[in-house]
Amino acid sequence: MIKSFSACNRAGIPDEADLELINKYALVPLKKEEVFVFSVILCDNELDRDFERFSEESLYALEKLFEGKTGILNHSMQSEDQNARAYRAKVIKDGSKKTADGLDYMYLKAWCYTVRSEKNASFIRDIESGIKKEVSISCSAGKKVCSVCGKTGCSHKKGGVYSGRLCFMTIEDITDAYEWSFVAVPAQKNAGVTKSAKINKKENSMENILKSVKNGESLTLERDDVKKLSSYIASLEKESADGRLYRESLVKKAKKYFAVAIDSLSGDCVDSLLENQTCENLEELCSALKKQASAVIGPVPQLLREEKKTDAGANSQFKF
Ligand SMILES: [Zn+2]
Repeated sequence: MIKSFSACNRAGIPDEADLELINKYALVPLKKEEVFVFSVILCDNELDRDFERFSEESLYALEKLFEGKTGILNHSMQSEDQNARAYRAKVIKDGSKKTADGLDYMYLKAWCYTVRSEKNASFIRDIESGIKKEVSISCSAGKKVCSVCGKTGCSHKKGGVYSGRLCFMTIEDITDAYEWSFVAVPAQKNAGVTKSAKINKKENSMENILKSVKNGESLTLERDDVKKLSSYIASLEKESADGRLYRESLVKKAKKYFAVAIDSLSGDCVDSLLENQTCENLEELCSALKKQASAVIGPVPQLLREEKKTDAGANSQFKF
């Protein structure tokens, strides 16, 4: 489920208290001037254009769940898009305003930070200039309760009027919050509240998809989820191809050192020793063999030095 809202304000330098909270998440303590803070309204209890709203309990549940959550762009799980984090979240009651159905207006506000870096410069500029201000959240909820009959899954239609009563759904039993996101779809309706899609459907974050896969649980994937999953797999394949190349280069190197350090070993024996070794083991082996090789023949000759690129010498393998 994704809900979108508009509001982003107070941007700039954190005070001491902010910085202390932020540094709970930073591996290396950040200085004031290294951080850019801003606040967003993640969601509220107003009826949205789909005649749905969060209950008060839901807002408080989200308050807990969103603290520390990552902010991304367009709900994409690409890690380069993860450029902000909510370090504090609080439900705020605004006594001066009522919701469409007469409740005291309340909203969930989050204070967020991002690091002032070259990579984030345009992101920060977009926030400061008000270009980035539509925020949407991704969360899952257990049920929607009908305003007319108080039940779930009834036949009343949202937006319909029954005996003078408007039908809308209250979102309850929040089970999880995944992330918040700056979205490119303004589509604003009244009161700055927008919503981008699909209600009562659990939005699968990559994290959750992987969790389900690891736990062997069944899960239903929407087209968007499949896209996310396939780009994730593509990135893994790329990483594994890189890893394979690196491993091959280590095996090649180890063979050369073997040939000098322990020249009585047969090629087959060396092959089987190197087979199925982790890169870590191969690195260790190479450095041990290198030492041994220089003990045998003195300073390691040109051919055995770290290959400097250009595969020229690489094929002049030792004969066993
Ligand atoms: Zn109903």
